Amino acid sequence: MKTLVWVEHDNAAVKDATLAAVTAAGQLGEVHLLVAGSGAAGVADEAAKIAGVTKVHLADDPAYAHGLAENVAPLIVSLMADHDAAVFPATTTGKNIAPRVAALLDVMQISDILSVEGPDSFTRPIYAGNAIATVQSSDAKKVITVRGTAFAKAETSGGSASVEAVSGTGDAGLSSFVSAEIAKSERPELTSAKIIVSGGRALGSGEQFHALIEPLADKLGAAVGASRAAVDAGYVPNDYQVGQTGKIVAPEVYVAVGISGAIQHLAGMKDSKVIIAINKDEDAPIFQVADVGLVGDLFKIVPELTEKL
Ligand code: FAD
Repeated sequence: MKTLVWVEHDNAAVKDATLAAVTAAGQLGEVHLLVAGSGAAGVADEAAKIAGVTKVHLADDPAYAHGLAENVAPLIVSLMADHDAAVFPATTTGKNIAPRVAALLDVMQISDILSVEGPDSFTRPIYAGNAIATVQSSDAKKVITVRGTAFAKAETSGGSASVEAVSGTGDAGLSSFVSAEIAKSERPELTSAKIIVSGGRALGSGEQFHALIEPLADKLGAAVGASRAAVDAGYVPNDYQVGQTGKIVAPEVYVAVGISGAIQHLAGMKDSKVIIAINKDEDAPIFQVADVGLVGDLFKIVPELTEKL
């Protein structure tokens, strides 16, 4: 089986989420990559070094500068005559492109896979991760998104794939890029951080969120996350949200501060190796998944903890 993995990048470097998708694709067969970008030759060269990759297709065109799904999907479809599976990281952009590819190919999308059981069988979470379904696809061409925390990252060196330029399908004329406001942070990226400190509604305000959560995160060299309630209340931006409708994370250590542990939050973090919960309610559901629990007032515990670290 020949697979085509869409490479997530910013025209400068390959994003980490791609690497887990490469590992998943490698369990299906030969791995080819697609770098669709503008001025992205450097990304293609970096991608060619990823272990296990045999070919990199480079579509360099201003139409692909911002990864607009409406432009990238037809490009992928144009390459599917030579590939049996299109594989995407289950990131915001990956999840934007994949269903369009599936629709254009008239096949079912296989979403958020956790494992490859065979050439046409996969496991995936259902009911917010409370059950795992084994799904089988009879489609000749597979369109798959890969949960990044479920597969090891492919090595970024050791490969020596060839880079082949492909002619793009250009601007589909369905969408245009207006602007992007990207939060800049010195902290590690949420989905690849080893330690995450997340805050919930209990923080009470954006000011208190920043005053308590950030110093603790700084001491631990951690990324900062949040529950949806904290995001909805405007304490922090949307891209901090961990959970079923936010980011799926599985760090070495996850510190949940003033988070109740609603099922939708647990769906995004319960695979973390060590979970530490700080909550004043000893019956809060977060304690059912926590390895370490601190029952008490976060406004006392967090400053004390930060000071002692
Ligand atoms: P709360 O549930 O209000 O919990 C606050 C906690 O703080 C309580 O346990 C309380 O005991 C504790 N507390 C209060 N004061 C203190 C104090 N002084 N010291 C210590 N502890 C204190 N949620 C997500 O997080 N991510 C998602 O992706 C997500 N997706 C959703 C999708 C759908 C379709 C739906 C319906 C819901 C989704 N939710 C999601 C929302 C989820 O159901 C919860 O409402 C949300 O997670 C609650 O956030 P919270 O734990 O911060 O707030």
